[in-house]
Amino acid sequence: MHEEKQLFAWSLTPEVALERLGSAREGLSEHEAESRLKKYGGNSLPRTRRFTVLGILTRQFYSPLIFILIGASVLTISLQEWIDTAVILLAILVNAGLGFFQEYRAETTLEKLTTYVKERTRVIRDGVEEEIDSLLLVPGDVIRLSYGARVPADARIIESNELSIDESVLTGESLAIRKQAEVLSEAAELPERINTAHAGTLVVEGTALALVTTTGAATEIGKIAQLVAETEHEPTPLQRALAHLGWIIFIGIAVLVAIIFFLGLSRGIPFFEMLLMAAAISVGAVPEALPIALTVILAVGVQRLAGRQGIIRKLAAAETLGSATVIMTDKTGTLTEANMRLVDIRTYKELITIPPPREAIVHLTDDEKDILSNALWGADVLLENPSDAKTEWRFSGRPIEVAIARAAHEHGMDVQGTSKNRASLLTFNSTNKFSISGNHAKELYVVVGAPDILLARSRLTKEDFLAMEAEVNRLSAEGKRLLGVARVPRERSAHLKKGTARAEQAADLEFLGVLVLQDPLRADAAESIQKIEQLGARVVMLTGDLKGTALSIARELGWEVDEGSVLTGEELRRLPDEALNEKLNDIRIFARVTPEDKLRVGRLFQKRGEVVAMTGDGVNDAPSLKAVNIGVALGSGTDVAKGVADLVLLNDNFSTIVSAIEEGRRILENIRKVFVYLTSTCLDAVFLIGGALIAGLPLPISALQIIWVNFFTDSLPALSFAFEKEYAKRAHGRGAEILTTEVKAITLGIGILTSILLFGMYWALLHFGVELEAARSTIFVCFALYGLIVAYSFRSLHTSIFSMPLFENKALNWSAGIGVVLIAGTMLLPFMREIFELAPLTFPLFALVLVWLVLNILIVEMTKWAFRSVAY
Ligand code: ADP
Ligand code: MG
Repeated sequence: MHEEKQLFAWSLTPEVALERLGSAREGLSEHEAESRLKKYGGNSLPRTRRFTVLGILTRQFYSPLIFILIGASVLTISLQEWIDTAVILLAILVNAGLGFFQEYRAETTLEKLTTYVKERTRVIRDGVEEEIDSLLLVPGDVIRLSYGARVPADARIIESNELSIDESVLTGESLAIRKQAEVLSEAAELPERINTAHAGTLVVEGTALALVTTTGAATEIGKIAQLVAETEHEPTPLQRALAHLGWIIFIGIAVLVAIIFFLGLSRGIPFFEMLLMAAAISVGAVPEALPIALTVILAVGVQRLAGRQGIIRKLAAAETLGSATVIMTDKTGTLTEANMRLVDIRTYKELITIPPPREAIVHLTDDEKDILSNALWGADVLLENPSDAKTEWRFSGRPIEVAIARAAHEHGMDVQGTSKNRASLLTFNSTNKFSISGNHAKELYVVVGAPDILLARSRLTKEDFLAMEAEVNRLSAEGKRLLGVARVPRERSAHLKKGTARAEQAADLEFLGVLVLQDPLRADAAESIQKIEQLGARVVMLTGDLKGTALSIARELGWEVDEGSVLTGEELRRLPDEALNEKLNDIRIFARVTPEDKLRVGRLFQKRGEVVAMTGDGVNDAPSLKAVNIGVALGSGTDVAKGVADLVLLNDNFSTIVSAIEEGRRILENIRKVFVYLTSTCLDAVFLIGGALIAGLPLPISALQIIWVNFFTDSLPALSFAFEKEYAKRAHGRGAEILTTEVKAITLGIGILTSILLFGMYWALLHFGVELEAARSTIFVCFALYGLIVAYSFRSLHTSIFSMPLFENKALNWSAGIGVVLIAGTMLLPFMREIFELAPLTFPLFALVLVWLVLNILIVEMTKWAFRSVAY
């Protein structure tokens, strides 16, 4: 692994470097690569953990609840109340243990997500180019770097074609560095090594052939990976908001408890007893499970989405997904299959249709053959299965280019041979919308790309230009994808011979013709869009394609669109922000747009208060993906896009966005439920004890009882809410607000009403002459059962408990079951009754408990009902 230290590959010529590493331009043999993989290990950085076990463990003890409990245990030890001490210590252990377990599981789930999005590299082995998982690279491998990729290992450039790399992760320098193959001095420092591509940096332009010198932890980034690993992961906005709210609740409780404390003293209750009571009330009131429940809900949701091919890269996005109001989607691959087929070739005069493969052999005219074989130079594809029969050959690469290669192959052209002699001078990107490539030996240079753009760069008479443009527009209106093919004239090819090109060099072109391709819609695209609209979000299409093609695809999707629903990039760029903003309501399709236009539209939507999700795949899409609320990258897209995205669609499929929104809604909804559940029970003990003190009644429950009940009622049911599946199907309010005024009102309403009801019952029991011990035991059972039973009502904040399948949530059944067993044990086992100073319940009192529980459910249901229309 430390070979590179002695190698100084940057000070050697490519040939010498290859030799020293026992490699050649044909690459390593598969056999050699395998044995090196054993020797050097996989090309991965040491696991960068988001968390440590110790960190999670200490975090459990760093909470107000545990502080209070520890304080209380110290108090009971000093009073030599050993049973109380034991109960409190048990409560500390169970709370910390449960918290640790849940948080550890959630963090492990979240960590695993980073491994779902794989990076692949083109490597040459045994003289054949193939694509492999970047983890399998070894020193000596010859790789091809291309635009949009993350460099997988440290590599010496053998041949550069305008390669530019963004090295900011390593050097902090944000300007892209042009990389060349030339030899450097041995003393060159890292930023000066312009013949080396470093692992983790990003290719922002061009392509190159390079020799892997170091892999994994030995790479430059590997050496500093420790630094990278230690940057702590940021809390999500909601986690921050809740931490803040936690303090507010804590202070509120502290004030109430202080009042109760002094009230108790003034009633003549002994100091220590009252101190312990104050501690117990605080323990009961602190919604300690809230932060853990939040992490668990996020982790469960994010994992469920991963099962449907949507990978959340940034946890904060999980909270925003559900509130998306505008989805800006591209067309190819997301709405369509990106499984293109050549159906037609248009020369100036001719038109022929090519039927599906192998059904019949159609002879192309010489002109048509000429167009297709020229276009083939523009196809940067890989043959995936060279050892299979020719009829079974599969190609991979950008979809349009695969379609060209497939068609050429079917018509007997030599795709392999062309690939070998092909020079790529300018790769396709969605700003230029064309590529330049060719063959140096033949001095043949071809431009392939959007036909209207090529036409404008061709030397045509005005008349011909207009005629052809009209024809292109007419063809596009049939929903076909069009690809122009043109040749660079000989007299202009001088600068191209150097092996590099700039967009300006595509001028004075000889226009050859147009390839007509068909890209079928995804079967579920129309349905998915409908679903999203039912969820209250708008879908707009932004495409680099022609207006006609976009319109026709939109109609196929069942959209009601006319000319007025489309805005082209050109029109858009002429409109100032205000004018464009006014049009946004009517426009559903943005055609012939560049990534810069997308960014502008996204920003305008955001300015109106929309929560915007946008799909993208190219390097140029990265700024937009960062700028909008939810950047969505396609799994087939560039590493650069995936690197900045919040959500990656492994299958490119638009329907995964529907899943993401549904999952996001579920997450929001479950967070709301947990919040209402945990905070509405805050006040129970406060009202009960405070009420008794004010009314001059004996205390209804003891400190020990409160602590005992607290450890099985709140946390377990709260965590079960993560498994609830319901979510709001109707349109949401604007914005990502989770704790809406309505949610807070429901919380307060339920909290106060049920607390009053509990105290009211205690008062009534005593008033009607029930004995104190029996009354207190009844209140204990009510107090303990309350949280377990109403949890079933809180499974939904808008559907009534009577219309939900009651026992669907297994986790909740278990938590409630455990709680009920513990309560039953406490009431039925004589020694437990003794510890907690309880008396057995008579049947009428037990019946009363049941009636009281039903009343509570009714209160919760009525509050839910009262706010239903406002909150959703
Ligand atoms: P979309 O929004 O459909 O993804 P793109 O920006 O990918 O649109 O493509 C715009 C136009 O650029 C296409 O209509 C096609 O003419 C041309 N084009 C697309 N991909 C390539 C490619 N790989 N090489 C050359 N031209 C391409
Ligand atoms: Mg595209």
